[in-house]
Amino acid sequence: MVTFEQAYEIISTISVCPTRETTSLRDALGRVLAQEIIADADLPAFDRSAMDGYACRLADLDKPLTVLEVIAAGAWPTREIGAGECAKIMTGAPTPKGAELVIMVEDTLVNTDGTVSYTGKALPHTCDTAHKVPNNIRYCGEDLKAGDCILGGGQIINPAIVASLATIGCTHPEVFTRPKVAVISTGNELVEPGMSLREGTIRNSNGPQLVAQLLQSGAEPIYMGIAPDDKEATAAMLQQAMQQVDMILFSGGVSMGDFDFVPEVLVEAGFEIDFDSVAVQPGKPTLFAHKGAQFCFGLPGNPVSAYIQFELLVTPLICRMSGHTIHTKDILLPLADDFQRSKAKRHSWIPVAIINGTIHKIRYNGSGHISALAQADGFISFPIGISHLKKGELTNVRQI
Ligand code: AMP
Ligand code: MG
Repeated sequence: MVTFEQAYEIISTISVCPTRETTSLRDALGRVLAQEIIADADLPAFDRSAMDGYACRLADLDKPLTVLEVIAAGAWPTREIGAGECAKIMTGAPTPKGAELVIMVEDTLVNTDGTVSYTGKALPHTCDTAHKVPNNIRYCGEDLKAGDCILGGGQIINPAIVASLATIGCTHPEVFTRPKVAVISTGNELVEPGMSLREGTIRNSNGPQLVAQLLQSGAEPIYMGIAPDDKEATAAMLQQAMQQVDMILFSGGVSMGDFDFVPEVLVEAGFEIDFDSVAVQPGKPTLFAHKGAQFCFGLPGNPVSAYIQFELLVTPLICRMSGHTIHTKDILLPLADDFQRSKAKRHSWIPVAIINGTIHKIRYNGSGHISALAQADGFISFPIGISHLKKGELTNVRQI
């Protein structure tokens, strides 16, 4: 048996080699960026107006201004602004030469002779850097200079990153290939959720749960089905999975029961077992094995154990295989209650609720109580040797 920290260390140091592919911008959301985003031009690419208004000189704000032209977004100014002159300008349009500021349309009045007067608050008459007036001009290169690196890669592409890619004209970003992961549920008692239950059977919740967790962590799940508690059948399903995927997840069949064949089957298939139990609760019978660049987790059959050990150990490895830097969803919050446990030999996790920024107990009966997870916002943990967490103590919550 290894400690959780030892198990995590093994997962964190095993060598992985993420591969790359390109995708379309439309399909980039949620993928891991595998390239740098470099500005291909200054941004903005020209001095432009941040407001709908009039572009003019600072010294002219106390007199009626003659309107030379109207500059729409996408157009280019044809006139230089001289004394007593202005150009009507739209947001995003290039500012004309000679203009020192754009006055907002809301701060102006159009006179009967067609000239425009400034009606806003008084501004200084000169524009120096020490007393810079808000001039509503976004200058060329103010946001980025051509060649600036916006992102270095390794981030999960969100809508803002999609926008940055579009801004630099990248229509087909390079992303890391999603690791393919097979899910095999084991157990004679299992029935697929759409089938009717017979006496002594239960619904296979781990299969769909693990597929969902894989999708959430950025992997490509391949659901293989239920392997009966039979060594040959389990071995056959493993062989089938090994031909298709980078990683295999078993649920069940890894503990000490008479029908727990997974470790044996893995060894016979040439896998090396790195650990076969971890000093955690729930999830002690968690196994990790590798064969070359192919990995396998044997997760406990109990749904809460499978869920938590996936989050703690499988997700970090999937992150590494997907080329992305691990960002845990941990937040530090105070405990609203005292939390106690009777034994302290294993590192244990329990589901909790977050209410008004504090951590609350929820009803939780142990590792089979999957519906408790649906009420939970996250987990807190008791390290080995700790059996009491005091009300008010700042505690890490791993958010679900
Ligand atoms: P095992 O690890 O195979 O001994 O299973 C431990 C417990 O988890 C047993 O009560 C099983 O019935 C239950 N279990 C195993 N696999 C699943 C599954 N796929 N979905 C829901 N419960 C399961
Ligand atoms: Mg079983």
